Order: sequence, then structure tokens, then C-alpha cells
Amino acid sequence: MTTALVYSEKYLEHNPGEGHPERPERLKAIVDALKRAKLWGAPKVKVIEPKPTKREDIELVHDPSHVELVERLSKFEKPLDGDTPVRKNTYELALLAAGGTIDAGRVVLSGDALNAFALVRPPGHHATQARGGGFCYFNNLAVMIERLKREFKLRRVFILDFDAHHGNGTQNIFYDDPSVLYMSLHQDPLTLYPGTGFIDEVGSGEGNGYTVNVPLPPESGDAEYMGAMKEIFVPLTEQFKPELFAVSAGFDAYVDDPLTQLRLSTLAYGWLTRFVVEQAERLCKGRVVFVLEGGYVPDALAEGVVNVAKTLTGEKPSTSVEPRRTSVIDELKRVLSSYWKL
Ligand SMILES: [Zn+2]
Repeated sequence: MTTALVYSEKYLEHNPGEGHPERPERLKAIVDALKRAKLWGAPKVKVIEPKPTKREDIELVHDPSHVELVERLSKFEKPLDGDTPVRKNTYELALLAAGGTIDAGRVVLSGDALNAFALVRPPGHHATQARGGGFCYFNNLAVMIERLKREFKLRRVFILDFDAHHGNGTQNIFYDDPSVLYMSLHQDPLTLYPGTGFIDEVGSGEGNGYTVNVPLPPESGDAEYMGAMKEIFVPLTEQFKPELFAVSAGFDAYVDDPLTQLRLSTLAYGWLTRFVVEQAERLCKGRVVFVLEGGYVPDALAEGVVNVAKTLTGEKPSTSVEPRRTSVIDELKRVLSSYWKL
């Protein structure tokens, strides 16, 4: 079965400016590395040129006033915030990033590919219903889910967000929605942007229990991630029984990333993916969609993406990492005990 990579050279045209960490070289390094690894153009890999999505699809998630704001700021090149500049082509490229993510989901749900990776820029997981920020304009992954819920009558989607920053936008959008379980592994919000993603943020109303935050102390690495995947991700997915796995794939938990203080190896991205692939095989015919978020050391980012892509195409990553159980996991289990058996 095929793995789809969704990519357009246009994604390199998104340029937040000199010295900004979210730069075009990131994606260029990824494509070069996928070519060197002979994954790009391999028989079991299909590269898809994305189409921009329509404004109506963005408005399934975002307030019309926010969509209008991004469009208007693009005309005047006024920033959304200090970290999130807006250029003439920002609105158009943000529609193409969301469109590429929808295309990745669609190719998987229609059965034309087993799994997919949307290699898009700009990223999306900090964009809430009402606003962008943190390098994000529209929430690509949330737009994909809302669009495809309607097209394919999806009832349950599991999101794993392993970007080092909490995906406050994605959490916000699905906070009261029991059809989408959002699980995020991220650096302790007391020590990193955006300052949300504490253990006791578990959802609201009908969505109570469907937001799961694993805030890891600075210096956490492979052992702590392995512990969280075994102790939380596996039992949670077994009980939730998703019809699709969607992964917000940020690579900035990498040990030398300049924006964060976590210590993940590039190899970890292979076995993190293996957890998702294995659960997807057991629960939903292997349906997995990855979407690119952060990661600010281009070579390490590229190596991480190659390790993800290898695992998506069926390679089994070797791992000898011993899980480390932490007080975060114990506390999270206690907080979630009224919703899940963990
Ligand atoms: Zn990040």
C-alpha cells in the first residue's frame, strides 16, 4: 500500500522574514533528505500536488472575522503578532497549506493511500477558532478534520500532537467535542510558549475527558516519551477506537532545537510513528495522516521526517529505549480516572 506525501514548491514561498526560525530552508531540507533516502519517487510513495482549499472550509473551524483579518493583513503586510508576520502571499499560502492537509486526509480516507504526510507551511496548531499566532494562521489539521468529517461521516478522530509546544489552537477548537480526542506531548507550559496544556485541562461539556495533556519537564527525552506512549497513548486509543489518526508532527522536541529545552533524539520520531501505525492497523485499517508543524534545526528536522516516512512505508524502527515513569504520568492517570481506564 502507498504512502502519500503532499507537497508543493509554493510552500517554500512562505517567508516570515530574515532571522525568523520558521523559514523555507526547513522544508527544503526535508525534501532533499527524502530524496537522498530514496523515499521521494519510490514505488510505494506517491507525491501529490495540493490544491488550495476554499474559504468555506476554513470557516468550518475559524470565525469569519479571523479569516477576513488574515486576508486583509495580507494586503497591507501587517503582522498578526510579533512572531507571526503577514506577507502579500500569506493568505493564499495559508489556504494552500490547509488544502494540502485536506488532500492528505482525503487520499487516506478514500483508500487511495494507506497513510499520508502533509509537508506544508505555514504550520497550524497554534491557530484557535478566533485567532492566529505562534507562526500559525489557520489550523490546517482542524480544517482537515472538519471538512472530512462531513465528506466521510467520520465519527471519531484521534489527534496526537508531539510538537514541543502545546497545540493551544487545536485544543481550543475541539475542547467541547467528544468526536475528536486531542492528546498532546509538550514541554511544561510554565517554561514554554504558549503557556497552556496543563494536566487539568481535560475538555469541557460533552468534551470532558477528550483533551489529554502530557506536560513534560524541560530535559525530558526518549525515556519519558516512551513512558507516555506506553502508559497513556496505547490504552487511550484502545478505548477511544478512532476511525482516523491525525498527527501534529512538530520536530522541535529535538535535543538541540533552539526554541525548546527537551531532549528527544531524531530516532525517536521513528518509534513514535510506529506506535501510531500499530494502533491504526489494529483499530482503523492503518489510516494515519501526519501534518508538519514545528522543528527549527533543518537537518535534524529532515532526519526526523525521514524516520517518520520510513515507518509509514512499513520499515520497523529498532528501539532499545526503556520507558521512564514520571510523576506527570501518575498525576495524569489520577485526573483522567473518571473518564478512562489507564
Ligand atoms: Zn513547536
